[in-house]
Amino acid sequence: MGLFDSLFRSSEILGIAEETLEFALESSEETHPNEYMGFLRGTEAARLDLDRDGLVITDILVVPGTETNSVSATVKTNQIPNDVMALGSIHSHPNGVISPSNADLDTFGRGSVHVIIGAPYRRTDWKAFDSQGKPTQLNVLDVDLPETEDFFDFTQADIDEELRR
Ligand SMILES: [Zn+2]
Repeated sequence: MGLFDSLFRSSEILGIAEETLEFALESSEETHPNEYMGFLRGTEAARLDLDRDGLVITDILVVPGTETNSVSATVKTNQIPNDVMALGSIHSHPNGVISPSNADLDTFGRGSVHVIIGAPYRRTDWKAFDSQGKPTQLNVLDVDLPETEDFFDFTQADIDEELRR
């Protein structure tokens, strides 16, 4: 276990950035009828102008090599970098059932918060679970993500607009 890993484990998770949640909901919809699967990474709250100690979930790392079908997503554990397991996971259930499967429970021990998103992927179609698979509270925080995230907001229309000036 690296230094980063232990650092993250000891930090409180304050919530998930609203933009990150919306991104995951959209990605789940795009991936349908296959499962969307990723790992949750955090940013220190102080870096997001929050006057608190702790971490805010701001990034989702989609692991290459995830084998997906409409029933389950299986991740080869040797493809997961050490530091990303610290916060937890996020995945979709195309069948709309927002509760952990037995296979999910087997993997939830790694990480402290696990989000399941269910079809039809509306704003309320998700729940967070702890490492035991019990429902847990995960706040949605309206924070400005660091600069690099703005990349996602760019559309071709924006670029065209920029070129016309
Ligand atoms: Zn599942």
